[in-house]
Amino acid sequence: MSNKLFLYNTLTRKTEEFVPQNAPNVGMYVCGPTVYGEVHLGHARPAIIFDILFKYLSFLGYKVRYVRNITDVGHLENDADEGEDKIAKKARLEQLEPMEIVQLYTENFHDCMKLLNCKSPSIEPRASGHIIEQLEFIKKIMANGFAYESQGSIYFDVEAYHKKHNYGKLSGRIIDDLLNNTRDLAGQDEKRASLDFALWKKAKPEHIMRWPSPWSDGFPGWHLECSAMGVKYLGETFDIHGGGMDLMFPHHECEIAQSVAALGKDSVRYWVHNNMITINGQKMGKSLGNFITLNQFFTGTNKILEKPYSPMAIRFFILQAQYRSTLDFSNDALQASEKGLERLTSAYNTLQKLQASSISTVSVKEYRQKCFDAMGDDLNSPIVLAHLFDAAKVINSVKAGTETATQEDIDELKWLFDTFLIEILGIKIEQNNASNEGILSGMVNLLMKMRVEAKQKKDFTTSDRIRDELQALGVKVKDTKDGFEWEI
Ligand code: ZN
Repeated sequence: MSNKLFLYNTLTRKTEEFVPQNAPNVGMYVCGPTVYGEVHLGHARPAIIFDILFKYLSFLGYKVRYVRNITDVGHLENDADEGEDKIAKKARLEQLEPMEIVQLYTENFHDCMKLLNCKSPSIEPRASGHIIEQLEFIKKIMANGFAYESQGSIYFDVEAYHKKHNYGKLSGRIIDDLLNNTRDLAGQDEKRASLDFALWKKAKPEHIMRWPSPWSDGFPGWHLECSAMGVKYLGETFDIHGGGMDLMFPHHECEIAQSVAALGKDSVRYWVHNNMITINGQKMGKSLGNFITLNQFFTGTNKILEKPYSPMAIRFFILQAQYRSTLDFSNDALQASEKGLERLTSAYNTLQKLQASSISTVSVKEYRQKCFDAMGDDLNSPIVLAHLFDAAKVINSVKAGTETATQEDIDELKWLFDTFLIEILGIKIEQNNASNEGILSGMVNLLMKMRVEAKQKKDFTTSDRIRDELQALGVKVKDTKDGFEWEI
């Protein structure tokens, strides 16, 4: 592990060398989706960014336990403590059971992850499968004096917590002002202050997803599952917690408060947040009408899209920006990514057939370290790609004969592309199906013409043999007035 990795830690606001607490083991938790709708472009960014972090850490020799949850209960509309559960609402509108909605969209999420070539996490726990762990967490928080009951629901007491600890340290929000401004609202709500957040909600009679608890039949608050499941699978302190920047407040701020309140310490050592994808400078959202699902990208069925885009083009587009900068979607940007991907793919294919020479006029040794340095510099994937583009130019020059490369140079370039483009950045080199199909049709047509010629020469042994052997391969042959037809 001679190659160092530096990550920007949102909590300390510094870029720090990543040193696992129990090397070679690394624990990484990433907030997964609330499964009440189809996966959209906004989901693809954290999925791909934490996938390259997972792949890079594994490549460096770490044994990574990557936990990514599925939120299937407790996430209410507008991320609030009042209102309808997002999944329950979708179930009501679709006249399905909430768990049917969960199944449908979890499958859609998994399908999209496979197409984007994201490796499955080590564990994918669901909130509804960890109610007992969440109840235990609440009991610890209450025993430590940081939560209170109100009409069967349990709320986290932000003011009591903030007197001893620092609520707001992750997001940088100035909580003292917020506390003073919101205390006046007391009495209008179950909560003592509007900053308080639900750990347990008493279910209304019509609420389907409910479990018994010492306080009421109800369901856990949204933030709680990540604290409880992170600790269950990764221990009371673990290395990395990731997610989109939009989760920093309140979700991750609340997670920190819950863990400190229950365990007396922070659970997370490095907080890593990816920035958002915008469309024409605007945040993507259902309510804004600029919401594009991944399936719409793959099929081109959204009026914003000029054409369909392949999963690898989407992956390449996301990797062309460092994860902490914003990334603005446009058709032009995606088409530029398609061209870039095509350039690297064709260089990769050229490389496989490159002829070695006894003399080398190229220098390819330095790319390896340059790529490690870029990955180690807070996962600077666009710089890794820039080095691969430079290497692609070398490949094309050797092919054109303006430069020569030895077998050693070619092997080094193959290692570079196999390691960085395929293994770490996770780009799949698509088989060129269109041209394969062209070759196949040409070959069948050639055999069929030879069969016609054999028949004309009354060589029925040959003509029957071509027909029978093609048939055995699954090619159905039919003689017609004008010649022949065939289908597979
Ligand atoms: Zn979470």
